[in-house]
Amino acid sequence: MAWNTIVKGPAEKASAVVGDYDAARSAFSWEAARAELDGLPNGGLNIAYEALDRHVARGRGERVALRSVTKDGAVEEFRYADLTVRTNRFANLLRDLGVGRGERVFSLLGRVPALYVAALGTLKAGSVFAPLFSAFGPEPVRTRATLGDARVLVTTEAMYRRKVEPWRHMLPGLRHVLLTGGMSASAEGCIDLDAALPAAGADFAVVPTAPEDMALLHFTSGTTGRPKGAVHVHGAVVAHHATARMALDLLPGDVFWCTADPGWVTGTSYGIIAPLTVGATMVVDQGEFDAERWYGILERHRVTVWYTAPTAIRMLMKAGEEPARRHDLGALRFLASVGEPLNPEAVAWSHRVLGRPFHDNWWQTETGGIMIANLAAMDVRPGSMGRPLPGIDAAIVERTPDGGVRVVDSPMTAGELALRRGWPSMFRGYLGEEERYCRCFAGDWYLTGDLAMRDADGYFWFVGRGDDVIKSAGHLIGPFEVESALLEHPAVAEAGVIGIPDPVGGEAVKAFVALKPDWTAGDELRHDLLAHARRRLGPAVAPKELEFRAGLPRTRSGKIMRRLLKARELGLPEGDLSTLESDER
Ligand code: AMP
Repeated sequence: MAWNTIVKGPAEKASAVVGDYDAARSAFSWEAARAELDGLPNGGLNIAYEALDRHVARGRGERVALRSVTKDGAVEEFRYADLTVRTNRFANLLRDLGVGRGERVFSLLGRVPALYVAALGTLKAGSVFAPLFSAFGPEPVRTRATLGDARVLVTTEAMYRRKVEPWRHMLPGLRHVLLTGGMSASAEGCIDLDAALPAAGADFAVVPTAPEDMALLHFTSGTTGRPKGAVHVHGAVVAHHATARMALDLLPGDVFWCTADPGWVTGTSYGIIAPLTVGATMVVDQGEFDAERWYGILERHRVTVWYTAPTAIRMLMKAGEEPARRHDLGALRFLASVGEPLNPEAVAWSHRVLGRPFHDNWWQTETGGIMIANLAAMDVRPGSMGRPLPGIDAAIVERTPDGGVRVVDSPMTAGELALRRGWPSMFRGYLGEEERYCRCFAGDWYLTGDLAMRDADGYFWFVGRGDDVIKSAGHLIGPFEVESALLEHPAVAEAGVIGIPDPVGGEAVKAFVALKPDWTAGDELRHDLLAHARRRLGPAVAPKELEFRAGLPRTRSGKIMRRLLKARELGLPEGDLSTLESDER
């Protein structure tokens, strides 16, 4: 089906942060983007200073930084000045506990204010912030805390009891567990954060971090092996700030709602850092998705810029037009989407029902910030991810036999999406896995692992992933992690995990299992295995479906052939899949 381009009028173009794409591309430099921030003396740069203290120093401390909506709809506001003091206290608390520069502070929290305080307080102290998704079960939490050498964990008592306490003795390096939201006397070896924070000093001189100092650790999933810890540095803030202005059209004073969970990279780069560096007011909802609730938040808080994801948009579409029409969404100026392919229908729907089109953009954990986007002043081509931001060079490449790559010039030809290295928020490594990191580059090009096409006008179109990683409801899920959890069950001899199409979540996780002798397939065992996976992995990662097989197809070297499982499941031609080895990233 052909989708009509949504043409932007002169008024929309004139009011956008980037009014003329080509002019902005040629005028842009990362040095100029850096000059929009203040920095620290002697060339230092600290994300939290740019997000908070800079505004206070410039007399903007009274502005609302965070408007937090509790599950029951109550609102708590924090000004830039309030967050500055609270993060100072958190940084002092870390110092009092002897937590040093570069040491990792993990969070396992819902979207409560303490999370924002912990993130920015950690960065002020020169320690490294590593957020975890609160819907993770004990196993993904343990794996990541081990991999990232967690020194501190900030969480709630309920999550601690269920997801951390059972294995804490295995991780002696995890010296401090800080609990927020109440702590009972029996929570041994933990600190009551809500009591400790007011007792910590309100002044703190931000640690003079250098732009290349590690700031953030984000976990992402690969096809094989453990999750990968993508390392990001303080210098990334230059890209967070510039890309939010260009791709999200974000201005000081905007009311900005990023619905992504801070446990994932979008929720940190654009759900904490970028809106604050710009000087916007962030709306944060502690509740879960509900169409009525979401429209109510847009209306009540007069949200001007909204950044969400295709799964959520599809759920809004499912709820129908009537709830949207019942609310005054007139404050909305710019709508953006990320994380999965955005169906052209969703763009047309939002244009018709919400009065504005969603602007798709593309990036990934490793890029740290938005790379390709439909900008406010650009005509939107529904189904396309947009064009590379000023400062970003993107290309479609194909690998050559000598290990290099060749740029594919012909329009609408599928190949791997590559980015020329050098933007400030590019990851600096996979923690402890130098070789895996090196495999992501060919000469000057960072290879994203995604397949895409470029049209004659420079718009990029997503084709698919080049690996077996599953994207379900916006969450990247490594099949190996799910297979490993299934293999822990005494009945399981072999497990293979794939993504199958799902009308709302994009993909759903499906497992194929071969049983050990003496075990009999049946509904009871299926339920038991699914429940086991949910307990170990959490509901966001565990399979939704499970099928028994007598045996699973393997490559000559013994790897489960997930692509063959998938081709058979979806009735696709198997072609030469039987000889393909999985991509190792
Ligand atoms: P993550 O690292 O969890 O943010 O996931 C990044 C991956 O999500 C990318 O490599 C893509 O496969 C997918 N992705 C992100 N944005 C888009 C988009 N706009 N369209 C299609 N896929 C996307």
